[in-house]
Amino acid sequence: MDVMDLERKPTILILGAGYGGMVTANQLTKELGHNEVNVTLVNKHDYHYQTTWLHEPAAGTMEPDKTRMKISDVLDTSKINFIEDSVVSINREDKQVELENKGSVDYDYLVVALGAQAETFGVPGVYEYAYHKWTVNGAREIKDHIEYQFSRYHNNEDMRNGDLTFVVAGAGFTGMEFIGELTERVPKLCEKYDVPREKIKMYVIEAAPTALPGFDPELVEYAMNLLENRGVEFKINMPISEVHEHGVTLKDGTEINTNTVVWATGVRGNPIIEEAGFESNRARVKVDKDLRAPDHEDVFIIGDCSLVINEEADRPYPPTAQIAMQQAVTCAKNLRALIKGGDLEEFTPDIKGTVASLGGKEAIGIVGNKKLFGTSANFMKKMIDNRYLWILGGPGLVMKKGKNPF
Ligand SMILES: Cc1cc2nc3c(=O)[nH]c(=O)nc-3n(C[C@H](O)[C@H](O)[C@H](O)COP(=O)(O)OP(=O)(O)OC[C@H]3O[C@@H](n4cnc5c(N)ncnc54)[C@H](O)[C@@H]3O)c2cc1C
Repeated sequence: MDVMDLERKPTILILGAGYGGMVTANQLTKELGHNEVNVTLVNKHDYHYQTTWLHEPAAGTMEPDKTRMKISDVLDTSKINFIEDSVVSINREDKQVELENKGSVDYDYLVVALGAQAETFGVPGVYEYAYHKWTVNGAREIKDHIEYQFSRYHNNEDMRNGDLTFVVAGAGFTGMEFIGELTERVPKLCEKYDVPREKIKMYVIEAAPTALPGFDPELVEYAMNLLENRGVEFKINMPISEVHEHGVTLKDGTEINTNTVVWATGVRGNPIIEEAGFESNRARVKVDKDLRAPDHEDVFIIGDCSLVINEEADRPYPPTAQIAMQQAVTCAKNLRALIKGGDLEEFTPDIKGTVASLGGKEAIGIVGNKKLFGTSANFMKKMIDNRYLWILGGPGLVMKKGKNPF
């Protein structure tokens, strides 16, 4: 890239190549010409991954590689300068971002889309003993660990009570989708390692009074019945008070022995947000209507690092890929307005529906006003997954990475 160009044109720096960052970068190539702006995208890895699919590779029902794609294969890197590195900190006053290996990068406009990390709600032992990383590498680790428990069964006389017990913390969407996949995987692992099916125990433990809090009760009942029939035991309204080396302690004093706790109780934003001094709630910034951080004309925060209030319900929207992608489009349009002139748009989420997979050909969901169960919900879920690939990389990416909806 020409050095003079870099000096003349404003620089937009995007942090994170998840749903928010990728769609912002893609949309900016449509909103602004290469001669009008420098766009730089920084991401930890040279690939983008489908966070919303990670319960599948984590349970072992999908190859981890299927969830990821090289950034240079889907973004036009002749228009976007891609830097593979980890963001260490944001210096708001100097308008500079510090990277782990490649020094610092200056910006005129910053888009923070660094995603989330697990929320522990103060429960001790989560980061030490539970699997809590919803990333490609985190999913690989969970999958291999689960398979290892089965592989030990005939080789270790000291197999403890609990070695074939699997605990999922949280009956929200992530926890329910993961246990759904695990119930599909377990019979195959039992067969592969000659483990009697009755040796396996699977628990989902939820602190709230219901699974999938806030979701349609009929669909919740459908999901719970289905999963119970596949051998899952739910402990609802039962907070976990501690995770330790050999299992979990529940609030009523019950001990569940296990080597495998998968943490899915919800998320907080990226800690870099707090460290940078943005005013935030659990590392999520309550952004202005135009998606900028309050009192920051030059910083947009989108995706799981942002917090958008649902005024009808008077509470924040749950963080989703759906919202992150919609924010990204508004963010790119507003960057265009800042650089070329014009009014900034206000962001209002357009929630098209919610669909959760339950393993195999099962799912539940609401699309518009319509409730979906079983195979029709499963079809819809796969179409949603494919739609995102289409937005990002057109039919070629759908052909390469897409899911068969039937
Ligand atoms: C198992 C699972 C299932 C889900 N299912 C759904 C669903 O069905 N529908 C839905 O709408 N939402 C779903 N979600 C939620 C959804 O995935 C998130 O809301 C969405 O990914 C948020 O997008 P984002 O761009 O903010 O962050 P992400 O997509 O997580 O991207 C963040 C990016 O930042 C990078 N990054 C992080 N830290 C650094 C750093 N320090 N330096 C450089 N790069 C960094 C990461 O590597 C990643 O590429 C699901 C989540 C999970 C875990």
